[in-house]
Amino acid sequence: MGRPRAHAGGKSLVNSPFTCVDLHMHTTFSDGLLDPEALLQVAAGNGVQLCAITDHDSVSGLPRATLAASNLGIQLITGVELSTTWHGRTLHVLGLGIDPGAASLTRLLSRLHELRRARALAIAARLDKHGMPGSVILDSLSQCPVITRTHFARELVSRGHAKDTASAFSRWLAKGQPANASAEWPELADTLRAILGAGGAPVLAHPLRYTLSAGQRRTMVKEFAQGGGQALEVVVGGQSPSQTQTAVGLCLRADLEGSQGSDCHDPALPWQRPGRLAKLPPAVTPIWHRWVDLHDSPARPTRTAE
Ligand code: AMP
Ligand code: MN
Ligand code: MN
Ligand code: MN
Repeated sequence: MGRPRAHAGGKSLVNSPFTCVDLHMHTTFSDGLLDPEALLQVAAGNGVQLCAITDHDSVSGLPRATLAASNLGIQLITGVELSTTWHGRTLHVLGLGIDPGAASLTRLLSRLHELRRARALAIAARLDKHGMPGSVILDSLSQCPVITRTHFARELVSRGHAKDTASAFSRWLAKGQPANASAEWPELADTLRAILGAGGAPVLAHPLRYTLSAGQRRTMVKEFAQGGGQALEVVVGGQSPSQTQTAVGLCLRADLEGSQGSDCHDPALPWQRPGRLAKLPPAVTPIWHRWVDLHDSPARPTRTAE
């Protein structure tokens, strides 16, 4: 599937009518702390003009988000953050501008939900085995639409078993720790096909966060582009300037467009504030150019069924 070309170098950014863009945020429909209405209110208050809600393996929050964005007068792009496997490692790929009801995506999401249910059971069993209240925590999460490790981490904290979520991860839930259970997420090629089949743009999320050598990282980005990937998340909350420079190099080398997002789970954390991002370096073509027509049009339910 061909990808739209919008190469205009630095000029394109200067001409972009959107000056505050955040294309990666989480709500209570996955592991974010705020519901769609509250999160978008914070985003609007921070001056965000164009944003995407990208919950882990879920599009269930999008109808509420679309309505809330419309009421707040900000533009919303539909989104999702999909868990995927690349050479045995977990990667995260954002699908932006997807049709949430597309068959390719619905099939992938039901597979992901099954995998997440099985993994939550495995995590609970591992915690139980180590004398931690795994099954009790799992019971308390029964209403949770998508159970992530963050949910377990927060419960371990609130029950006094860890001082904060970072410690809950480093002691129990991170890779190699006793309650970590691996999941065989769908392969990258299948994930890319599902996003493209839903009319969306695949964006490789936080490329510098994976534990990879420089060579492996280049291969990851190359194979992502070869499979139909369209953009790299060049600017992301909590990233250092030198990491951003590395991401720019990866992006240009693979001839991808660039995206940016806070990866907000909790707007109270300074490095995750919606819309408060470093500028996308001018060498990179912003992915949001394809949505420029949304600017100056009244906020309306967008891209939900196109
Ligand atoms: P999951 O998709 O269920 O494996 O959960 C992944 C989520 O856990 C990520 O999106 C982060 O929000 C969170 N996470 C992963 N590692 C850490 C960590 N070391 N500290 C805090 N949160 C983490
Ligand atoms: Mn998360
Ligand atoms: Mn992620
Ligand atoms: Mn995320």
